[in-house]
Amino acid sequence: MALKAVAPAVQKTIDTYDETPAAAVNAVYERSHLAYQSWSKYSVEKRTSYLKRLRHILIDLQEEIADIISISTGKTKTDALTTEVMTAVDAIKHVEKEAPLILANEKVKTPLHFIGKTSYINRKPRGTVLIISPWNFPFQLALVPLIEALAAGNTVILKPSEETPMIGKLLQHLMSLLPDDVAQIVMGGKDLGGALTSEKPDYIHFTGSVSTGKHIQRQAADHLIPTTLELGGKDAMVVFNDAHIKRAAKAAVWGSFHHSGQVCLSIERVYVQSGIYNQFLTEVKRETAKIRQGQTEDSDIGSMTTTRQTNHVKRQVQDAVDKGAVIEAGRAPGDWKDDSPFIEPLILTSVNSDMDIMSDETFGPVMPIFSFHTEEEAVQLANSTSYGLGGSVFTSDIVKAERVTNHLVTGNVNINDVITSVANFNLPFGGVKNSGIGKYHGYEGIRSFCIETSVMADKGTSEDEITWYPSAGKYLLLKELTAGFWGRQRNWKSFIQTYMRLSKM
Ligand code: NAD
Repeated sequence: MALKAVAPAVQKTIDTYDETPAAAVNAVYERSHLAYQSWSKYSVEKRTSYLKRLRHILIDLQEEIADIISISTGKTKTDALTTEVMTAVDAIKHVEKEAPLILANEKVKTPLHFIGKTSYINRKPRGTVLIISPWNFPFQLALVPLIEALAAGNTVILKPSEETPMIGKLLQHLMSLLPDDVAQIVMGGKDLGGALTSEKPDYIHFTGSVSTGKHIQRQAADHLIPTTLELGGKDAMVVFNDAHIKRAAKAAVWGSFHHSGQVCLSIERVYVQSGIYNQFLTEVKRETAKIRQGQTEDSDIGSMTTTRQTNHVKRQVQDAVDKGAVIEAGRAPGDWKDDSPFIEPLILTSVNSDMDIMSDETFGPVMPIFSFHTEEEAVQLANSTSYGLGGSVFTSDIVKAERVTNHLVTGNVNINDVITSVANFNLPFGGVKNSGIGKYHGYEGIRSFCIETSVMADKGTSEDEITWYPSAGKYLLLKELTAGFWGRQRNWKSFIQTYMRLSKM
């Protein structure tokens, strides 16, 4: 089967590419296992030297790469440059710098009763990592987990989204900078994804929808394959009376409409405290009116990437309007240009929890706004969906922001900002509840691609341990030692004496 490379903004098919047949999957894994034999033995420094080279080439080709991303997703070229290319090179730089320390043996404390021993965590690669990625940030959401997995010494099989196959082709070319088969890019859709998952990779890193994530998790469970699942979101932005209103309004507009809302950490619900509700609404409408839609270098937002996604947004907005939502900016779906991939940014008020738009992921340029009175109510509303990816709190009272953060059941929070925390590679990233399992980025993220072996080491110079056989006569002494060491008052003298007696038995 051929995959069509479509430019969504102009709705043109640009090219077609061959799909990787499911029958080839076995050979892909065999090549990966073979490449692992040498790649996993390289030092971290040698592995990251390849990644450094990749980073330099990405910089050399940044303009061409941004063009390809922009054409194949409909996002603006500026967005393609910043949130895809710049993010990817920053991630590589972070990995180059931090991986040696993150992956080194880590010494931990050894309790005194294990006298003479040392303890540490040893980290090594898992083997072949399967990465399955989506279409909304098709470049960086494929490349960032890939470089983290490679730095940790794994080999990678990556299946990018079939909706943006030009990015798959681009990644195939870029991977030729690495030794053969260390990172293989396979091209195809759901069926190929299923075939790859069935072939028992050593780890699965998946980014995509909740339903596919759950499906993959069920498949992985059969073989206890560990996974990271980076899934959808329904992020809330909470704006308190004491917030910087202009900043909050601009943030809401960027956070809701960036890449036409096709961002997992998009602001999908805005809760505004009653005292500033009217002023905030006026500001967001003013800011929204300024947005330029198109694909020139000066455009703010581009098009939707897939017709399926446009239709999903259309259905949700229609459902909200049917149930009484008021359109403050943008148009009712009945007035949308037929088949246009551009959705004018929408602001909705008079929304309520019966509307799908307040509970299910929209992934489109829609900002529903709802008023609240108290901090408790804001927290309860923000936590009221099945998702837990991110959230934002706007207030000039940092203590309040930290208190609210403490109560938000999400994997990520931005204070007086939106989305941006995901771009700090020192912070682990991942969701809770239906938004996923596990993390990537940060120490935890790179380590997710490692087997962690807990080691306790003895010099091996003495013949015996106090708990080894024979047991005869040790019971009372061990009781004394337990009370002396862990009892209400630690009795060092008794502990040492008892320990010495036991060690001579
Ligand atoms: P999707 O689940 O439809 O597809 C994602 C990938 O999974 C694609 O490569 C697809 O081919 C593959 N796939 C589909 N069915 C499969 C199966 N049965 N077995 C194996 N692979 C299969 O998601 P999408 O529409 O491409 O992406 C949009 C979703 O991704 C949104 O819900 C968005 O919130 C989420 N997302 C999450 C994050 C995050 O970091 N949490 C980031 C970006 C996007």
